[in-house]
Parts: sequence; structure tokens; C-alpha cells
Amino acid sequence: MKKILLHACCGPCSTHCVATLRDAGYEPTLFYSNSNIMPLEEYDLRLEALRRFAQIASVELVEDVYDNARWLACVKGLENEPEKGARCRLCYGFNLCRAAGFARERDFAEFTTTLTVSPHKPSPLVFAAGDAAAAAAPGPLKPEFRHFDFKKAGGFLDSVRLAKQYGLYRQSYCGCRL
Ligand code: SF4
Repeated sequence: MKKILLHACCGPCSTHCVATLRDAGYEPTLFYSNSNIMPLEEYDLRLEALRRFAQIASVELVEDVYDNARWLACVKGLENEPEKGARCRLCYGFNLCRAAGFARERDFAEFTTTLTVSPHKPSPLVFAAGDAAAAAAPGPLKPEFRHFDFKKAGGFLDSVRLAKQYGLYRQSYCGCRL
């Protein structure tokens, strides 16, 4: 199995992505880096569900620091943008830059994200943010962002089914509340 860092937005989305990656010959490490999630109580609820899933699926989980102030500074001026607009593109980039930096630091040659499982996240925009994050990673050896389109072939519905089966908390909004 090849190792890959999987930026994980939450437990429910991770279910289908981990299964898909394992079918493709990868052993993922989950990376919870989501400074966009507000308020902190909601961030913790999602993290708790992810911890639970990590235990069920026997997958390693790394938890990044929560820095909502820095995230807010990053999207300043774009508060009124609609979902899937300019603020969301910066938001994908913020979290994927964290993932790329961690991948580089810990010798993961490849990384990807659960974000593409959501029907609300256009995969081409996520791929562009991932590629840019990989290129911006520090040092000469860049990690490769892998273009997994997890929503394909009923991926989202599979994540709903699995999350229900495991009894995982599922959020009712994307994350930022702006
Ligand atoms: S709506 Fe979701 S993707 Fe868009 S900026 Fe807010 S948290 Fe990020």
C-alpha cells in the first residue's frame, strides 16, 4: 500500500474516501485541518466524529491547530460571496496549503482531500486549489496533489450510507457561517 495524506473535512465525508483510497492501493493518513469551521464547538463536534471513524476504520489521524482568526483574515472582504465563489476558493486553498506543508514535512509524496465528495464543492476548483498548494509547499521536493473526484459513481450517497451505518454526527452546513 502506498501512503497518502488525506485532508479530511469531517467523519462522514472521510468514510467513502478512505474506502476508495484503500481500493486504489493507498493507506491514507487523515489530516484534520479546518480553521474555517465556526464556531469552535462545531469544529470539535466534527473532530469527535472523525476520531470515532478513525478508530472504527483503523486509520491514523493527525489533528492540525485551529486558527480561525488567520482564516478570517485570509477571506477578509469576501464575506458576502455566495457559496462556490471567491471566498470558497480561498478557503479550499487555505486548508490545502496546510495539508501540503504537512505532507512535505512528514515525507508524504502524495496528498488529496475529502472535499470533492461534496456535491457543493466543484471538483475542478478543488483540484486547482490543491495543485496550487502543492506548488507553494516549501522546499524543492513538492508533494503531488492527487485528483480524486470522490463524488463520482455515487460517492456522496455512499458517504451518507456509511456515516449512518457508523452512527457518525453529520453537520447541516458547510463550515464558516459568514
Ligand atoms: S462556505 Fe464552506 S467552503 Fe465556502 S468559505 Fe465557508 S467554509 Fe469555506
